[in-house]
Amino acid sequence: MTTAFSFALNATDGSARTGVIRTPRGEIRTPAFMPVGTAATVKAMMPESVAATGADILLGNTYHLMLRPGAERIDRLGGLHRFMNWDKPILTDSGGFQVMSLADLRKLTEDGVTFRSHVDGSKHFLSPETSMEIQRLLGSDIVMCFDECPALPADEARVAESMRLSMRWAARSREAFGDRPGHALFGIQQGGVTEALRGESAEALKAIGFDGYAIGGLAVGEGQEAMFGVLDYAPAMLPEDKPRYLMGVGKPDDIVGAVKRGVDMMDCVLPSRSGRTGQAWTRRGQVNLKNARHADDPRPLDEDCTCPTCRNYSRAYLHHVFRAGEMISGMLLTWHNLYYFQEIMQGMREAIAAGRFDTWEAGFHATRAEGDIPLL
Ligand SMILES: [Zn+2]
Repeated sequence: MTTAFSFALNATDGSARTGVIRTPRGEIRTPAFMPVGTAATVKAMMPESVAATGADILLGNTYHLMLRPGAERIDRLGGLHRFMNWDKPILTDSGGFQVMSLADLRKLTEDGVTFRSHVDGSKHFLSPETSMEIQRLLGSDIVMCFDECPALPADEARVAESMRLSMRWAARSREAFGDRPGHALFGIQQGGVTEALRGESAEALKAIGFDGYAIGGLAVGEGQEAMFGVLDYAPAMLPEDKPRYLMGVGKPDDIVGAVKRGVDMMDCVLPSRSGRTGQAWTRRGQVNLKNARHADDPRPLDEDCTCPTCRNYSRAYLHHVFRAGEMISGMLLTWHNLYYFQEIMQGMREAIAAGRFDTWEAGFHATRAEGDIPLL
């Protein structure tokens, strides 16, 4: 039960990598996509269904869970894995990003952030030390450093100041995390879209030493071109023998581009959130099930997809249940979307191992370029 946390790289192809993260709760095949279980649930999905899509790990949100139902309560009830009936690994974010984006009346100091809950207006304080304690109470397998991230575009002086604060917080997070065998602490590189700041951040993190390294501060409105611009150099600044996690990414083509540039792990609400608004992601791109063109279509969403949604339901049915506001609409589309995202990851893992990532990527883009199947 005291298996150490470890990462083994099995193959590389260009900058793309495939490997496995080992934890006491199981293995995480990389590159890995982590579905987001914000409030101790991946919305519209039973945990066993999430596992059946091929997910090895989930992400939980510290900010949401500390406010409701509270980290101490989850701890008393046996920890987050038991509480939500998910026995595989869980990564929790630090709460920092969501405090900045969701909470009211924030006050940021060197010590941490005081804020009011968006749920009930109650007052809370998050710092490197409190974030480490909350993530410990949740029982998270991969803990993230508490950091601050300015929304882009921000001027370079503001980005530099914020990054240096995050590096001081990273050292405090490391100190507060202590020695917890089988659990990992990841540092988070900041520095916006400025190469020198990204380099300074990477050096600061490596001097502290972490079990893995995240690339933070991207996917915050800078656009794909700017993001890929940073990913052309940022992953290589981080240790080769540790997992690299790109936070909050993304759409299928963002994910593929990030893996091509050396990223091992990603998370995004997109497949589940889209599933609740009638949007499906398929090999041929995005499909809007709201559209009347599907009303009489007996074909599945994707004839080549082997998920339960595509095996058992027609586009006409998916259109009907969305229009009728039936709960199964979100369930079926979320299942398919998560399955498709995991299928992309599996495809990339196999292609990297076989040394044919470029061929796989060309096929991925060519199929998407064809667009959705024509009307009957
Ligand atoms: Zn499907």
